[in-house]
Amino acid sequence: MPELPEVETIRRRLAPLVEGRILRAVDVRDAKWCQPAHPQELKDALEGRTIERLSRRGKYLIWEAEDEVYLLMHLRMTGTMLYDAPEETLYTRVRLVLDDPPSVGSAGSADSGTQARHVVSFCDPRRFGTGELALGYRDLEEFLDARLGIEPLSSEFTTEHLYLQTRKRRTPIKALLLDQRRVAGVGNIYANEALFRARIHPLRSAGVLKRPQVAALRDALVASLEAGIGAGGASIDDFRHPDGVKGAFQNEFLVHDREGEPCAVCGSPVRKFVAAGRGTYACESCQTRPRLRRTR
Ligand SMILES: [Zn+2]
Repeated sequence: MPELPEVETIRRRLAPLVEGRILRAVDVRDAKWCQPAHPQELKDALEGRTIERLSRRGKYLIWEAEDEVYLLMHLRMTGTMLYDAPEETLYTRVRLVLDDPPSVGSAGSADSGTQARHVVSFCDPRRFGTGELALGYRDLEEFLDARLGIEPLSSEFTTEHLYLQTRKRRTPIKALLLDQRRVAGVGNIYANEALFRARIHPLRSAGVLKRPQVAALRDALVASLEAGIGAGGASIDDFRHPDGVKGAFQNEFLVHDREGEPCAVCGSPVRKFVAAGRGTYACESCQTRPRLRRTR
């Protein structure tokens, strides 16, 4: 599933291609994508508006159109955004057709009827991805605040903030990291990588972590996410850049997807087990497994 670095990679590559252009058509091929809204609602709200900004919050890609109209896209499991892909590309659920703004008074072009037209396609074989509208800035803030905690790459993501999130929580730290309402945008890959960097076992209760461990975890999360963005995201499943190129972060994984391979720090084999319902990778020499509580 695309996580924060993958969505941020898409945003950085698409933003210069869509910002300032007019969203001419919202061509919904699969009405499930925008349910419960009807495709016509999205067309009415968005068509003809200029895209002022392409932004991101957590794993949401946000098309900010003029007059505070927002399209929030979530890629979920298998969603990919492709730029100028062939119309018959498989699993296309929606096509966003963009025009250049009309150039005022330009008499130079020989054929003024043909403007450059570009298409961003959302392809999603498993059809879990979503498109939702927010009308007005307050609506957008309410939508995001109800679903997402703090941005881990913002200045608000301090050790103190993360420490407070973990207090009195008996939930395993990995499950807490995957909870989007606590830290936005972190998924399975980056949780595995950050916990390894911080030498914390994924099953350790959040509430028992000492402040220095939380400080190490905060730094490890930021480092892992930034490394992911630096490598253009991780392509282990369907993730592609808008031009079809794969990310390279999978080549830099420290533990994720490396079962049986030697730990880069101590040489012990990387273990795979289930935590928070997800395939979890850790070095149990570097990340000491918590002792089981004795039940009587
Ligand atoms: Zn190790």
